[in-house]
Amino acid sequence: MIEVKKHDLVIVGAGAAGLRAAIAAAEADPSASIALVSKVYPMRSHTVSAEGGAAAVAREDDSQEMHGYDTVKGSDFLGDQDVIEYFVEEAPKELTRLEHWGCPWSRNNDGSVATRAFGGMTTKRTWFAADKVGFHILHSLFQHSLQFENIVRYDENFVTKLLVEDGAVRGVSSLSIREGVVRCILGRAVILGAGGAGKCFPFTTNGMIKTGDGMALAYRAGVALKDMEFVQYHPTGLPGTGILITEASRGEGGYLRNSLGERFLVDYDYGVGAKAELGPRDMISRAIMGEIAAGRALKGPYGQYVHLDLTHVGESAIDSKLPFVRELGRTYVGVDPVHEMIPIRPVVHYMMGGVDTDITSATSLPGLYAAGEVACASLNGANRLGSNSLTECLVFGARAGTTALDYANGTDDCNEARMRTQVADEIERLDGLRGRQKGGERISQIRNEMNLTMERGCGVYRDQDSMTQTVREMGQLRGRVSDLGLQDSSKVFNTELIAALELHNMVDVAESVAMAAQQRKESRGAHACSDFPHRNDQEYLHHSLIHWDVGGPRFGKKPVNLGTWEPEERKY
Ligand SMILES: Cc1cc2nc3c(=O)[nH]c(=O)nc-3n(C[C@H](O)[C@H](O)[C@H](O)COP(=O)(O)OP(=O)(O)OC[C@H]3O[C@@H](n4cnc5c(N)ncnc54)[C@H](O)[C@@H]3O)c2cc1C
Repeated sequence: MIEVKKHDLVIVGAGAAGLRAAIAAAEADPSASIALVSKVYPMRSHTVSAEGGAAAVAREDDSQEMHGYDTVKGSDFLGDQDVIEYFVEEAPKELTRLEHWGCPWSRNNDGSVATRAFGGMTTKRTWFAADKVGFHILHSLFQHSLQFENIVRYDENFVTKLLVEDGAVRGVSSLSIREGVVRCILGRAVILGAGGAGKCFPFTTNGMIKTGDGMALAYRAGVALKDMEFVQYHPTGLPGTGILITEASRGEGGYLRNSLGERFLVDYDYGVGAKAELGPRDMISRAIMGEIAAGRALKGPYGQYVHLDLTHVGESAIDSKLPFVRELGRTYVGVDPVHEMIPIRPVVHYMMGGVDTDITSATSLPGLYAAGEVACASLNGANRLGSNSLTECLVFGARAGTTALDYANGTDDCNEARMRTQVADEIERLDGLRGRQKGGERISQIRNEMNLTMERGCGVYRDQDSMTQTVREMGQLRGRVSDLGLQDSSKVFNTELIAALELHNMVDVAESVAMAAQQRKESRGAHACSDFPHRNDQEYLHHSLIHWDVGGPRFGKKPVNLGTWEPEERKY
C-alpha cells in the first residue's frame, strides 16, 4: 500500500528560498502543517557555498531608487520593474530579520553593518559575514526553522513528479533515498525552491546537486520556463575545478591582469567603463574571452586563463575579509593570494531563467509557486548582479510562503485515491529504471555529450550555427535519455538511479536553454550573439518562454513589465 502523508503545504527544497518560505508559512499560520522535502540534508543545499554577500540598501549614501536602477540596468532592461521595486523595498527588512535570527553580519568599527562593493552596484550595498555568507545565512535559517513544530522535514527525499489533478497541483511523489520507498506527499499548494541547473554545463561553480530538478518538474507539469537563454558566467573560477573565487575579491580591491601584467579592464574598452573590476559579470567574462582571443592570456593544463591579483590588498584585509579565498587558493591551485596571483577564467555560475512566476511567486498552474534560483520572477532579466540572488531567495521565499498558504487555506482536499494511482505509476517507472541492464545508453556518455554541446552552443559567446547544432543535438539526447541502462537494482541509496533522474531533468532543462538562445537574435546581458552583436529592443524586448509539449518544446513570449526606468543604452 502506498504511504500517503497529508500536509497543507509542500515545499520542495531546503536552501535559502525553501527554508525562508517554510518559516514564513509557519509563522503566518501555526496550525498549518508544512512539509519540507529536500534531496539533501538542508545544510548541504547549494546556498551554503555562497561566499560574497547579500545586497540591500544600508548606507546613507544609498537609496532604494539606486538599487532598483542598478538592478534594471544590470538586467539589460529585461528585468520586470514591479518585481525589482518590491525586491529593493523588502531587501533591507529581510537582511535585518536574518540578523535577529542569528546571522553574524560583519561590522564597521562604529558597530553598523559593514557593506562591500560588488559588480554593477553604484555604492557599497553588499552585506557580508567574512566570505562565508551562504553558510551563515543557511545556518541562521535552518536553526530558526527548528523551533516550528509544524515544519515536518523529509530529508534525503527526491521529488520525482508533481501530482496534478483537475488542473491544480496537489502534492508530490517523493523517493526516500535512504529507504528506497516512494511516498505520496499531499499538500493543497506546492512551492518549488529547488535551485538552479549549472550542472548542465561541464565547467561550473555549482554543486553536484544543481541539476534543474525543480525546473523540469514544473516544465513537465505544463508551466513554461522563462528566459532560459541567460546563463551567467562568473568571471573568476579556478581553472580545472571551476571552484568560485568570490566577486568580493574584486569588491575588496582585486585587479584582473593579462599575461603582460596589464589591468586590461582599464586599458581596453570592454564596456565596463570606469568601473573596471567592479563592472558587471557578463561584461567582465567577455573581456576575459577578449584577452584570450587577442593572445594576451596565459596557458595552463586546463586551458587559457588570466590572473586575479590581490597581492596589493594586504594580508590583514585578506585574512579578515577574504579568508576563504586564501584557503581556496592555497588548497586548490597552490597559490597564496597574499603573495601570488590567482589563475582564473569564466565559469558557469547561475541561471537567470527558470520557472515562470509572477510577483507573488505564483506560476500558471494553480497551487504551484516557485522562488529562489529555480524561479524567474523576473528580477535578474538578462544578467544578475552579484549578491542580489541570496536576497532574492529571502524576499520571494517569504512571499511564496504566505501566498501559497493563503491559496491552500482556500482550497479543498484532493481525491486521495487518484493521487495514489499517480504515485503507483511513478513507482512502476522507477522500478523499470532500476537495474534495467538492457538499456543501450550510459549515464556518463549522455552527460558528457550534453555538457560538451551546451558549452559549444551556449558559451560566453554564441553564434547561430553552433546554437542550431546544439538544439539539434539536445533533441537527440532527449530521445536517448529514455534508453538508459542501469546496473544497480538495489533500493537503498541507489545513487545510480538518482543520477539517471537528474540526467533526465538536466537534458530537458538544457534543451530549453539552447532553444531559447537560438530564438533570440540579438545580444543582451549574458546572451552575447556574435552574429547579432547589438541589443534590439524593437524585436526582442520580451521574455522568452519554452513550453513542454507532446513531441518537444514549443516557443512563446511574454512582455516585460517596464515602469520607472526607460530602456537606454547600457553603459558603465
Ligand atoms: C559557489 C557559489 C557562490 C555563490 N555566491 C553568492 C553570493 O555571494 N551572493 C549571492 O547573492 N548569490 C551567490 N550565489 C548564488 C546563490 O547562492 C544561489 O542562487 C542561491 O543560494 C540559491 O538558493 P535556492 O534556495 O534557490 O537553492 P539551493 O540552495 O540550491 O537549494 C536547492 C534545494 O532544493 C533541493 N532539491 C533540488 N532538487 C530536488 C528534488 N528533486 N527533490 C527534493 N529536493 C530537491 C535541494 O536538496 C536543496 O535543498 C552563489 C552560488 C554559488 C554556486
